Amino acid sequence: MTKILHRQIHASLPVAVGGQGVNLLDADGRSYIDASGGAAVSCLGHGHPDVSAAMHAQADRIAYAHTSFFTNEPAEKLADRLVAGAPQGISHAYFVSGGSEAIEAALKMARQYFVETGQPQRRNIIARRQSYHGNTLGALATGGNEMRRTQFRPLLIETHHIDPCYAYRFQEPGESDESYAARAAQALEDKVLELGPKTVMAFVAEPVVGATAGAVPPVADYLKRIRAICDRHGILLILDEVMCGMGRTGTLHACEQDGVAPDLMTVAKGLGGGYQPIGAVLLSQKIFEAFANGSGLFQHGHTYICHPMACAAALAVQEVIERDDLLANVRAMGAHLSRRLGERFGNHAHVGDIRGRGLFMGVELVEDRSTKAPFDPKLKLHAKVKREAMARGLMVYPGGGTIDGVHGDHVLIAPPFIIDAATIDAVVERLGDAIDAAVAV
Ligand code: PMP
Repeated sequence: MTKILHRQIHASLPVAVGGQGVNLLDADGRSYIDASGGAAVSCLGHGHPDVSAAMHAQADRIAYAHTSFFTNEPAEKLADRLVAGAPQGISHAYFVSGGSEAIEAALKMARQYFVETGQPQRRNIIARRQSYHGNTLGALATGGNEMRRTQFRPLLIETHHIDPCYAYRFQEPGESDESYAARAAQALEDKVLELGPKTVMAFVAEPVVGATAGAVPPVADYLKRIRAICDRHGILLILDEVMCGMGRTGTLHACEQDGVAPDLMTVAKGLGGGYQPIGAVLLSQKIFEAFANGSGLFQHGHTYICHPMACAAALAVQEVIERDDLLANVRAMGAHLSRRLGERFGNHAHVGDIRGRGLFMGVELVEDRSTKAPFDPKLKLHAKVKREAMARGLMVYPGGGTIDGVHGDHVLIAPPFIIDAATIDAVVERLGDAIDAAVAV
């Protein structure tokens, strides 16, 4: 019996023993197509020899050096690379061990920015419902996934939530994208005015919503309008690209496609591709200057920030993505995946919506297509889809069962950037069989 506390206490999980490219292998010799990159992590697939070589080389040099004594080469190079490829205004990177840590650091940077610049009354965080920003307490308070928050509510800092930009659920019939974008963004301004503009510190959003809703992109101009509202009221815009960033949508950062630059951005999963635990906050020059001209330090830190092994692995992952022009493959294979999903599920009785960008696609399952009524959360349909998919040698990332009554179950598909068309065809075929089997019971 396992001595590990797994998320599902009684689940008996297969033992992963190997992986090559888009496939994972278990101890019984079964092979699985990793069509979700774990949780949208494994962007380069498994067992990449160049990443492995870089990690070995770094382990031979120096595995760990505390940042109060030293900086290190891979961290410096990774920061240079990230800043060079970042949206306008971003000037520095802060390396942590994952997505939740990145969100915690970004929230504290926002708070310290206002303390340093003489606006200590700014403390309110506004985020969105149906969002996920992590499981540590600050990140959990910021996220809008009710199922994950409910029992921990007494421990959470006060935050404020507005509806997300989620066309399938919230755009009215006949409403143009333009007026929906205006209406969805207006929810932010209304909340800011309600709280008092000078009390608001930051607005936090995933440009393309991942874990909680299943690859929901914003409609055109929504994020531009959000940016304008933040600017009008002096509020920092924190974009959480932990899941949708680092190439997953076909551009290095998802927000590039919306023509928007944040004040702070969090990245993680695709940064290290799962080879090492790593996340980062990318911060703008104005925040850096506030710290530099103020107290001279960011009042934060963890033992493993700028970890040399983690940074070396991430650097190698990012170099391979650029060298092999894998974002071009994300765009081409994303279009292929989108087409195939449309063919297989476009008329499916229990698929209400197919959406996403690049190799970040979501399929929303509904009990009734015409009313968009979700399945009863008690059925845990997403868990059934996952089991049926695993039985067919397919890893996808289903979610749902939120208790907000708005949205039901979805399946997230986020394969490695190296996937080819024939493998995508196999993914869609197996997923179709898995969904049919899950809804039949
Ligand atoms: N933000 C987003 C958008 C995420 O998808 C996740 C992880 N699913 C996190 C933050 C938290 O990241 P981690 O699990 O690495 O702490």
